[in-house]
Amino acid sequence: MYFDKAEVLDRSELEKLQAERLRKTIEQAANSPYYRESFKKNNIDSSIIKTVDDIKRLPFTTKDDLRSQYPYGLLTKPLDEFVRLHASSGTTGTPTAVFYTQKDLDTWADLMARSMYAVGVRRSDVLQNMSGYGLFTGGLGIHYGSERLGCLTVPAGAGNTKRQIKLIRDFNVTALHIIPSFALYFAGKVREEGYDPAEMPWKIALIGAEPHTEHTRQKIEELLHIKAYNSYGLSEMNGPGVAFECTEQKGMHVWEDSYIAEVIDPETGEHVAEGEIGELVMTTLTREGMPIIRYRTRDLTRFVPGKCKCGRTSRRIDRIVGRADDMLIIKGVNIYPMQIEKIVMAMPEVGQNYVIELFREGFIDQIKVKVEIKDQFFVEDMRVLQGLQKRIAAKLRDEILVTPRVELVQRNSIPKSEGKAQRVIDLREVEN
Ligand code: ADP
Ligand code: ZN
Repeated sequence: MYFDKAEVLDRSELEKLQAERLRKTIEQAANSPYYRESFKKNNIDSSIIKTVDDIKRLPFTTKDDLRSQYPYGLLTKPLDEFVRLHASSGTTGTPTAVFYTQKDLDTWADLMARSMYAVGVRRSDVLQNMSGYGLFTGGLGIHYGSERLGCLTVPAGAGNTKRQIKLIRDFNVTALHIIPSFALYFAGKVREEGYDPAEMPWKIALIGAEPHTEHTRQKIEELLHIKAYNSYGLSEMNGPGVAFECTEQKGMHVWEDSYIAEVIDPETGEHVAEGEIGELVMTTLTREGMPIIRYRTRDLTRFVPGKCKCGRTSRRIDRIVGRADDMLIIKGVNIYPMQIEKIVMAMPEVGQNYVIELFREGFIDQIKVKVEIKDQFFVEDMRVLQGLQKRIAAKLRDEILVTPRVELVQRNSIPKSEGKAQRVIDLREVEN
């Protein structure tokens, strides 16, 4: 069961299509000031692409390249031809702007509709989009995809949990789009408002936009009584709808008729061996207004080996382990926030939120993990809590090789933002 036959093409057919589209993309990109210059410098034109594998001969495009071309340097057409712009949420610094022609928006909506179909959303569903609208692509991207699929679409936007619940009940909402860290918080609020999640009409949640672990997904599924599916995208590649889980929940299918995905060693730029973790590099194949070639996403993942049981032939990427930008170096050791999430979210006593604080003691960097504990464990006596604190610290030490301080806090005592969660708070500069 698929939405578009592109999802089930034979590998050889698909690669032929990719090579064709890559050549066309190079020709289109050459109309932009940035790529015209870059192709001239590197002596590149579309004829060097005989097979998809020749993509290796093209130079990378980095976030800094995009920033240096801000705002119009990658546009292949006069501004008149464009109808929308989005910007990355700026989680990791200066934003970049992305422009879409009407055709680009149509292609994107089709990819989004396909993604939602893959996890069982149908036109009879009512979908509530609980992510922020505005420049963030998770708003309008999901919105138009949902309409394209034919769902009644509730553009609720972020925050305001009481109103979210009312809309869900009033309109019998069966599918949610919700950011994972917000989903955990929302689950608590639903109970506080006196509702039993098992009695809510929802069945399917699309969760994405930020890294989260398998345990976090399971927690969301249990707390909300819902099936939660991982959704990957980035504004430089349109937004959501780049890679999406199917109902198997074993990795995210990359829509390879629209994107070429590569996984490289960030140091050497070479492809890693099949199944190994590296940096995801993405190329647009169906974007006319602002094609981007070999974009260094800085997201770390791997290709899931083998075929998916669902029958789709496109390759799958594993959940994102973290962003290269998120890496912390504490006492000389490299640590990713997801390593910490993996440990804490797997502990039954832990509730719905955590935060990592970095601080300095003397000249030494220290790491503290604040963890929200479920209400029932807070009534325990001091010794039990201290034991738990020690256990969490020891498990974390085994994973990250540094012993962190652990502080147990009550539910909702860690501030919750409406958008992507800020997992790391760096207090080191402030204290100096
Ligand atoms: P920003 O870089 O400002 O957050 P975007 O809003 O374009 O910009 O977000 C894209 C980024 O969000 C991706 O590069 C990735 O780091 C993260 N992201 C998106 N979806 C997922 C997901 N399902 N799992 C993990 N990380 C994700
Ligand atoms: Zn599948």
